[in-house]
Amino acid sequence: MTTKATTTKATTTTATKTTVTKKAAAKKPATKAASARKAPVTAKALQGKIIQHLRGTQGTYEEKATPQAWWRATSFAVNEFVMAGLTDTQKTHSRYDTRAVNYLSMEFLMGRLLSNNLHNLHLFDVTRAALEGLGQNLDDLLEEEPDMALGNGGLGRLAACFLDSLATMNLPAVGYGIHYEHGLFEQHFRDGRQIERPDAWREYGNPWEVCRPESAQQVKLYGYVETRYEGATPKKVWHAGRTIKAVPWDIPIVGYDGANVNILRLWESRATNFFDWDVFNAGGYVDAQAEQAQAETISKVLYPNDETDAGKELRLIQQYFFCAASVADIVRRYRRAHGDDWTSFPKLVAIQLNDTHPAIAIPELMRVLIDDYDMAWKDAWGICQQVFSYTNHTLLPEALEKWTVRLFEKVLPRHLDIIYDINHQFLTQQVDAQWPGDDAMKQHLSIIEEGHERMVRMGHLSVVGSHKVNGVAQVHSDLVRTDLFPEFHELWPEKLTNVTNGITPRRWLKACNPRLAALIDQHIDADWPLHLDKLKGLIAKADDAKFQQAFMAVKRENKVDLVAEIHRLTGIEVSPDALFDVQIKRLHEYKRQHLNLLHILALYRRLLDNPEYNMVPRVFLFGAKAAPGYHLAKDIIFAINKVAERINNDSRIGGKLKVVMLPNYRVSLAEKMIPAADVSEQISTAGKEASGTGNMKLALNGALTIGTLDGANIEIAEEAGADHCFIFGLTVDEVKALNARGYNPYDFYDHDEEIRAVLDWLDSDYFTPGQPGALASIKHSLLQGGDPYKVLADFRAYSDAQRNVDEKYRDGTAWARSAIINTATMGKFNSDRSIQDYVDRIWHLKAYPRDN
Ligand SMILES: *Cc1c(COP(=O)(O)O)cnc(C)c1O
Repeated sequence: MTTKATTTKATTTTATKTTVTKKAAAKKPATKAASARKAPVTAKALQGKIIQHLRGTQGTYEEKATPQAWWRATSFAVNEFVMAGLTDTQKTHSRYDTRAVNYLSMEFLMGRLLSNNLHNLHLFDVTRAALEGLGQNLDDLLEEEPDMALGNGGLGRLAACFLDSLATMNLPAVGYGIHYEHGLFEQHFRDGRQIERPDAWREYGNPWEVCRPESAQQVKLYGYVETRYEGATPKKVWHAGRTIKAVPWDIPIVGYDGANVNILRLWESRATNFFDWDVFNAGGYVDAQAEQAQAETISKVLYPNDETDAGKELRLIQQYFFCAASVADIVRRYRRAHGDDWTSFPKLVAIQLNDTHPAIAIPELMRVLIDDYDMAWKDAWGICQQVFSYTNHTLLPEALEKWTVRLFEKVLPRHLDIIYDINHQFLTQQVDAQWPGDDAMKQHLSIIEEGHERMVRMGHLSVVGSHKVNGVAQVHSDLVRTDLFPEFHELWPEKLTNVTNGITPRRWLKACNPRLAALIDQHIDADWPLHLDKLKGLIAKADDAKFQQAFMAVKRENKVDLVAEIHRLTGIEVSPDALFDVQIKRLHEYKRQHLNLLHILALYRRLLDNPEYNMVPRVFLFGAKAAPGYHLAKDIIFAINKVAERINNDSRIGGKLKVVMLPNYRVSLAEKMIPAADVSEQISTAGKEASGTGNMKLALNGALTIGTLDGANIEIAEEAGADHCFIFGLTVDEVKALNARGYNPYDFYDHDEEIRAVLDWLDSDYFTPGQPGALASIKHSLLQGGDPYKVLADFRAYSDAQRNVDEKYRDGTAWARSAIINTATMGKFNSDRSIQDYVDRIWHLKAYPRDN
C-alpha cells in the first residue's frame, strides 16, 4: 500500500501529526506536484487484478463478460486498495484509542462510489488505461453502477460530503445509518406525470459493502415496564414484546490523497434467531415467516418525504432501530478498551444528530447506562449532555418532528419514562430557576406538548440533551436563535451556534468536471481539492482573455455532453449555444419551481406577442422528485412537463426557448448537469431554505446564481461579490413585514397584467388540450390558497433579475469574468471547512493519519 507516500496531506486540523508527512516536493511548481502524484499500481498490474476478479469472482471471462461484470470486476480490484487502507486506519485508531465522532443520520445520499474512490486513490487515469488495454471504456463502466440513493436530498447529501471530508482530514469518525433495501424511488414520467418505481440499488449485490455479522445487535420494541423495589432506588425493567436483530453492513469511505479509510455502518433489520420454533414445529411455518417479514420491514424502504414529517409508527421504529443498534455498537467499542470504567466515555465519544431523526438516541443512551450498567441518573445525564450535539436543518413547522405520547407508550414505554424524567428535571431545575413560577414558560419549553393529543417534541428533546445545537448557514442559525428557540438561547447563550454547510470539492469539481479540474491544475497548485481557498489564485486570471476563452470552452464542451444526455433521456434537441438555466432540487413550494415556471410562461407569451422579442436563446432545465403524497408538488411537475411539450414544439418562437425536465434527478444526474450550467436557480422564499448545497455545487462549477437572500445564497453572494450574482426579491425581514401587514396575492393578480395573463393561461386548456383545468391547482394555491410562499410578490423582481441575466450573457467577456470569479471564490464552501468548524466548536477531535 503506497498511496499515501507521495504528496502533501490534509493539514487542516488542530492535530500536529498531519504535518509530518509533508514532503519537500510540495514546494515544487503546481504542475509538477500534479504529475508527481503517482498511482499506487501500474496499468499492467491493475489489468491482472481486474482479469483475476472477472474470472475468479465473477465467474466469467473477457470475451463473454457483460459491462456489469466488468464494472464489478473493476470495483473488486479497486477494493483491494480500499480494504488495505481500511485495515491500516482501524489499527491506527485502536492503537491510539482515539476520540471519534459518531455521525447519526437517517439518510446518506452517497451516489456512485467507483469514480469517487478512483479519484481519491489517484487510480483514475491508470484504471482508464488498464481498461483501454482490455477493450473497455471506463466512462461506460461507471454508468453501470446504480446510485446509492439512501436519502431524499440535501440532508442526506450533506452527510455523504461530511464523510468524505472526515476521512480526508484523517479524523476518526463512523457514520451510522440504515441499510435500506430500497432507497429513494425511481422517478418516471407518464404523460408528464410523475410515476414512482421502487429503487433496487443492491438487487444483485453491492461490491463495496461488507457484512459484519459478528457485530450484530439486538433491538427491543413494545412490551411494558416493571418497577422493582429491591435496593435503595426502585429499578425499572423493560419487558420488551419483540426483539429484532440489527445486522451491520460497512461501506468503506475513502479519503482523498491517501488519507484514512473510515466506515459508514448501515443497519439491516432481520428476524431474531430466537425464532418461535414451537410455532414453527406446530405447523406455524407461515406465521413464523410473517413474523420474519414484519421484522425485515423495518429497513425495507426509505420514507420519501423531504421536509415533511411522516409521523408513522414504522418511521419511529426505524429511528429507534438504528439509534439503538448504533448506541449499542458505540458502547461495545468503548467497553472493549475500557470495560466498566465510564470516566473516559465522554472524552472519547461524540455523537452528532443529523436533524432530530436520531434524537431517540439520547434517551436510549440514558436507558443503557441506567438500566444495563446501573449508573446513577445524574451521572448518566452528565455523560449524555457532553456526548450529544444536534444539527437543526429546518424552520418549516411541517418538518418539526413530534410523536404522540400514545405511540411512545406502545412502542418505547421505557423511553417515555426517561423522557418524562428528563423533562421533569429540566422544567423544575433550569426553567424554574430562570423564570420562577412561570407556568406558561414551562408549558412553552416542555418536551411534552399538552393538548387533546399529548405529543413528544423531538426538537426540544434534542436541544435539552445536547451541549451544542447548530444551524447550517448564518441566516438560518440567526433565525434558530431569534425565532425557533429564543428562550433556549436565553437559558443557554453558549449552546446555539452556526456551521455553514459545505460540499466536497473532490466529487463536485474534480470528479464531475474533469475538464475544469484539468484547466485549474494548469494554473494553481494541484492540491486545490484539499485547500479549496487556493482557487482564489484564479481571480488574477478573470480578466485574461485567453483564460476566459479556455474557461468558457470547458463550459461549452460540458454543455455538448449534456445536450447528448438530454437527447438520450428525453428525445428533446437543445443547442449548446443557448444559455443553460438550471433548477435542480426536490420539488417543494418553498423552493418555488412554480416561480420559475411562471417566468417561463411570461417569456413564451412575450415571444408570441412579438416574435422579435429580444432574448438570448435559453434552455430551462429542471430536475426534481416530488414526495409521492405531495399533490401540489406533483401537479407542478406535470405543469412543467406540459408547458415544456407545448413550447418545445412551437415553431413560432424559433428555438429561442426550450424547457426540459430530466427524469429521476439524483446524484449521478446532478454530476452531469452541474458542469454544464450557466445559471443556478436558488429562488426560495427568504427564510425558508436553511442553507442549500446545490447552490454551492453550481457556483463552484462556474454558474452564476440568480437567487434570493436566503440560506447560504447570502454567503455565496458575499464571497463572489454582488456583481457576480443576480440577487432579487423580498428579504427575511420584508417577508415578515408583509405577513404582519397581511399579504393579499390578488393585489398582484389584479394590478400586474402579465401575472394575470399567465395564471389565467394555466387555467385554460392551452397546455393540456381537451383537459381544461388540469393545471388549475397552481393558480388556486397562488390566489385562493393565499400564496404562502409569496410567489406573486416576488414575480416582478425575479423577472427583472432575469432580464439582467439575459443582458449580461450577451456580453461574453463580462459573463466569463463572473463565471471565473464564482469558481474562484467558493473555497469557503468546501465541506472540509464545515468539518473543521465542527471540530473547533463542537467535537474537539484530533486527526490521526494512519501509521502504516
Ligand atoms: C446537492 C443535492 C441536493 C440538494 O440540493 P438543494 O438545491 O440544496 O436543495 C439534492 N439532491 C441531490 C441529488 C443533490 O446532489
